[in-house]
This record gives sequence, structure tokens and C-alpha cells, in this order.
Amino acid sequence: MTGSADRGFLMHHFHYHNDELYCERVPLRELAARVGTPCYVYSHATLLHHFTVFDSAFEGVPHLTCFSVKANSNLAVLRLFGSLGGGVDIVSGGELYRARQAGIAPDKIVYSGVGKTLEEIDYALRENILMFNIESTQELEAINARAAAFGCRARIALRVNPDVDPNTHPYISTGMKKNKFGIEIDSAVKAYERARSLDHVEVVGVDCHIGSQLTEISPFVDALKRLRLLIEKLEAVGITIQYLDLGGGLGIVYDQEAPPEPREYARAILRELKGMHCTLIFEPGRVIVGNAGVLLARVLYTKRTQSKSFIITDTAMNDLIRPSLYGSYHQVQPLRRQSRESHIVDVVGPICESGDFIAKDRGLPMVESGDFLAVMSAGAYGFTMSSNYNSRPRAAEVLVKDDRYFVIRRRETWDDLIQCETIPAFLSSDKQPA
Ligand SMILES: *Cc1c(COP(=O)(O)O)cnc(C)c1O
Repeated sequence: MTGSADRGFLMHHFHYHNDELYCERVPLRELAARVGTPCYVYSHATLLHHFTVFDSAFEGVPHLTCFSVKANSNLAVLRLFGSLGGGVDIVSGGELYRARQAGIAPDKIVYSGVGKTLEEIDYALRENILMFNIESTQELEAINARAAAFGCRARIALRVNPDVDPNTHPYISTGMKKNKFGIEIDSAVKAYERARSLDHVEVVGVDCHIGSQLTEISPFVDALKRLRLLIEKLEAVGITIQYLDLGGGLGIVYDQEAPPEPREYARAILRELKGMHCTLIFEPGRVIVGNAGVLLARVLYTKRTQSKSFIITDTAMNDLIRPSLYGSYHQVQPLRRQSRESHIVDVVGPICESGDFIAKDRGLPMVESGDFLAVMSAGAYGFTMSSNYNSRPRAAEVLVKDDRYFVIRRRETWDDLIQCETIPAFLSSDKQPA
């Protein structure tokens, strides 16, 4: 494919041709005009490429790549990874339902999360998933009790908190002592011994996930060293570990980051694992889908106040909350490049919050009402974190393959917004309220 963005692995299939931004061979301005905005667009070739590069980095080593559903949970996206031999990492019953609807086999599903409800545990037991990643001793007891009620044994790993600093945004660091995730590594052996004594769990794994958008390898290696020590301690007390789940967290390029490529990540990990015989499980999310998607927006108005210039788009924080929530950077590009003067602007949405922005103090060419913009690298934690705030219907999602596109989630309607609501009878007559 020509004109793909370079930087090795992080190449993607969004590029300009005659000053028009394309996804693969589809001009995005045409797509935006047909499908409307806001609209998420994913590149099939990029998704395929990223999954394959990650998965094949561990070729020859027993492993399972379990895509993290919360990064992008569209059924078509899940189905694609399933068709490539991937499994999934889920964090809720809803994600389990999605994964099953997308055809992911239960023996390729691992279930993480600090707050699994009994209903969710029962569902996962009925489906007979590969492994529960348990995050507390109370959860261990709860899963044992539910498995006893079903007369089965739940395969489990304990999610261990290795207390390493991933040097990422505090909201997305998960493997430090102060975080709510996992079981402290110092008490892990005791927790494993307790697990072994229970009749309805089968200890099969050790799990960790230290954070997201990591741009260095060393925190992964530090965590792994600690897990390796733990696995050796467990061996010494007669507990054999079959699966080593290293979670996700590999970062991508949004701006100036230089994250390691999956191959470097794999090399560092495999070096640490010499002599071990576990099957590896990975839970990558962002690195697979982040740069495979963009969010299309239409310019509604532009305005200039005494201190600032604004581009007001039809796309807002309810569509993409990462800038508001984490101060994340997303590149913004016009769908049609023109030789226009550049100026410093905030790109904002229509929502009644000052935190409603897509980009701040950005040098962008002048745009006019009706122009289209692409918010780049929006394939991960984009649509999945979107909401109906301000009663805005959620965006459409589109999958592009070569010169064709497929709407894989239709835009919500105003009717969709009120579908789950009822007015109780005492309010529904035409009587005046008492
Ligand atoms: C969010 C999450 C992931 C995926 O993280 P990325 O940074 O998107 O790779 C993997 N495992 C668990 C347990 C998670 O919570």
C-alpha cells in the first residue's frame, strides 16, 4: 500500500493522495458526506497488520493473543481478530456477551476486572472460559463458591500487582502499590496456597497488567522478573503455573512518543523467560487498534474571541473523551489539504462543558463551516468510551476494506436515546401534577 504513514510497525493506511485524505482506497470526504459525522472509521488492512505483527512477534513460542475488548468492542473488529486466531480479554459480562456473539471460542477468553458480580461470574462459568484473572481474595472465595454451586472447577490466575511504575498517565497506571488492581505480590504465595486448598478452583496461571500507553520496555521487564521469582516460589511449594499472562499496555504514537515495537517488546520478554515453560498470554488493546481508526468531524462554525480562536465541530467529548479525561493528544487533520494560512485554535464540540475539547492550542490551517476534519489515532478507547451526554446519539462506526466501506454500527437516532425509558402512570395522565 503506498503512502502509508511510516515509522515501521506503526504504519497505517490513512494517507493523502492529491491532498485528499484516504483510508485505504476510500476518500474520507466522500465517506463523511455519505455516512455523516461524527463517524469512526477503521482500516481493515491496518487492524490486520497490527494484530499479525504483534502475534507473530511470539511465533514459535506457545502463546495466545487475547485482544482487550474494552479498547474497541465492535463485533466486526472482534470477529476479525477471532478469524486470525486471536482470543479476547474481557472485563465484564457485557464484553463476554459481545465476544461470544462475535464467535470467539470460550477457551480463548480470559476475564479480568476488580469487581466481577455474581451474575457475571455465573455467566463466565456457564460459558467455561479459559481463565478468570482474580484480583482479590474475596473474589477467589466468591468464584470458588459459585463454581461449587455449578459443580465445576473454575480455572484461575491471580492478578499480581508487581509494584512497578509504568511511567504513564496516573489514570492508566495499574501495577503500583497505590492502585486498586490485583493482589500485592508480597502476599501472593499465601493467596495461591489458599486457592490450591479450594475444591472448585484450579490454579493455572499468574497474571499482571501494569498500565496502558507504556512507551518503555523496562517496566514490562521489571514486572516480569518479579513474576518469574513468584512462579519459582510457587514451584517450590508444589504449585505449577501453566499460563503466564502479561497483560497489555504497549503504547502507540499519538504525538512525539517513540514506543518500542512489538518485536523489541517480544525480544525483551522472551529473553527474561529463558528456561520457563509457561504458555504466554497477552492482552494488547491500544497497540492493535489505536492507529487503525480515525474520528471524522464536520466544522460547524469558527469564532474568534479576544484571546482565542475556536473551531466548533459536530464532534464532542461524548464521542471521544480522551482529551478531556486524560489531556490526551490527538492529531487533527483536514480531510482536504489546502494551501491556507495556519493559526492557533482550540477544536471544540457543542457540549455545555468547558472540558469539551478535542484539541487545544493547535496550529491548524484555516477552515470554514462545512469542512471536514479527521481526529487521528482514535481507534482505541474512542467509541467504547463514548456516551450520550447532552442527549447526543452515539456516532456511526465504519470499516474500510480496500475501496469499499461497511457501516459496522449505525448512527444512533433520537428514538434510540429514549428507548429504555418509561414515564410512570402517575405522570402520564394529562392531570396537573399534585
Ligand atoms: C485495559 C486492559 C488491557 C489493555 O490495555 P492496552 O493498554 O490497551 O493494551 C489489558 N488487560 C487489562 C486487564 C486491562 O484492563
